Amino acid sequence: MWKGDGSEKDDGFVTRPILSCLHTDKERINQFYERLNSDASFVVETMLERYSAAVVPTPRIDDIVIITDISDMICRFMNEGGPDSVNDYLTHSPDVIPLLLKGIRTVLQDTQHTAEHNYAVYCSFTFVASLAPFSESTMRSALVSGILNVSLEIASNPKLLKCGNRAESLINKLQSCLIFRPVTTAAVASINNLVTRRDFNLPQMLRSTNTLFRKEWTRFETLLLEQAVILSLFDNGFAVERGSCASCKTIASRKDFFKCSGCDILLYCSTKCQESDWGRHRVDCKIVNEYLGKHLSANISRAWRRQGILQANRYWSSIIVLAQKKEIPLLDLGVQITYNSIPFKLDVFDCRKVDPSSVESILSKEVLRASSESLPCFMLKTILPRTVDIFMVYLNDARDARGDGEACRTQGAIFVDEDNNRLYPTARDVVSDIISQSHALSKSDWRKLWGSKPFEILAKKAMEDGVVF
Ligand SMILES: [Zn+2]
Ligand SMILES: [Zn+2]
Repeated sequence: MWKGDGSEKDDGFVTRPILSCLHTDKERINQFYERLNSDASFVVETMLERYSAAVVPTPRIDDIVIITDISDMICRFMNEGGPDSVNDYLTHSPDVIPLLLKGIRTVLQDTQHTAEHNYAVYCSFTFVASLAPFSESTMRSALVSGILNVSLEIASNPKLLKCGNRAESLINKLQSCLIFRPVTTAAVASINNLVTRRDFNLPQMLRSTNTLFRKEWTRFETLLLEQAVILSLFDNGFAVERGSCASCKTIASRKDFFKCSGCDILLYCSTKCQESDWGRHRVDCKIVNEYLGKHLSANISRAWRRQGILQANRYWSSIIVLAQKKEIPLLDLGVQITYNSIPFKLDVFDCRKVDPSSVESILSKEVLRASSESLPCFMLKTILPRTVDIFMVYLNDARDARGDGEACRTQGAIFVDEDNNRLYPTARDVVSDIISQSHALSKSDWRKLWGSKPFEILAKKAMEDGVVF
């Protein structure tokens, strides 16, 4: 199939006849494997090697043809099923996305722009888009490899119209990855790079894209801005999180308690309190330990808990409205935040109706027990791409059934309810505050604010003002 490693440039022609006989026919693809006496991983490795050899600073038209053919071919192989499928292999290989993005950049930067060039970009980009949404690590390497500028360049180039809708759906799929801290950091660096590059005029490029792409891009930036502000606040020590001893019910800052080492969920103020509660908690603790295990490191869990609590506080007035709609008393309230789809979903549930045989019931029982003793708290369930986390959240005294003032509608909606109605944080919300101040700081181009430490000053100032949640 492939003679050599690409150093002999003339072997490129063989890919086209293979393509024309394969089409998308699964049967033929399998016969192809058999005839080669090989499997998906060998085929993919060989294809990527040939692709890589064609990505050179000044590609000849033969190289462009190879880039087109190979990405076209991988796309066709992608749909083929089986345990050792090309799809599986490609999804788990860390080198694929960076290589393809490099290929696209090479073709876009070439001084020549033939129809073959456009088709090469089309095939490679289709392939990149078909792999989204990415895993956390792939997303990071995709950002470092310039997935944002590639998408923008493609969306703003009228000759690449065929890729246009793929660019907007790609930007949409990338958004859900922004909830991971390393991804946020990489995305901030990536946008900062775009803004400061002299040869890249971001606002102008955006203007030449279509409305749908601009909408997705704006949502991407809004979400990124919000995540960057939240992380910046946390890094500066914002947020005093409250906790309560499961035994004596003292409420104080969470850091004043220690966690039950069995379940990592319940908090105690002293060994004495833990011992006196053990008879009651033992059975539940064992179940949590068995089913939930310590699958998350304490830090990941803490980051999600803090993020979840912050969002629940920001959207408290919406939560109350949702609870009233579903006729759930605030004492029995559960809040569910789903980060799996864009926009994120915020929903409420009744702790009394949690399946008693589920792991979640351990927490819902604790919430109901605390409520019956007039400790204001709710159960928070966070659904993430590969895991579910549950927490118990103690409410600030200021949060009550009234909600918290007018909603702030200047920002794009990050959350929707289960009927897809947009939800907006309350007006006196620190995150929205910082974001609107950032916009106001530089009227000419607020994007200049993307730096290595965005919003540091604003976050520090907000903390000096004594904002807590
Ligand atoms: Zn205690
Ligand atoms: Zn426990």
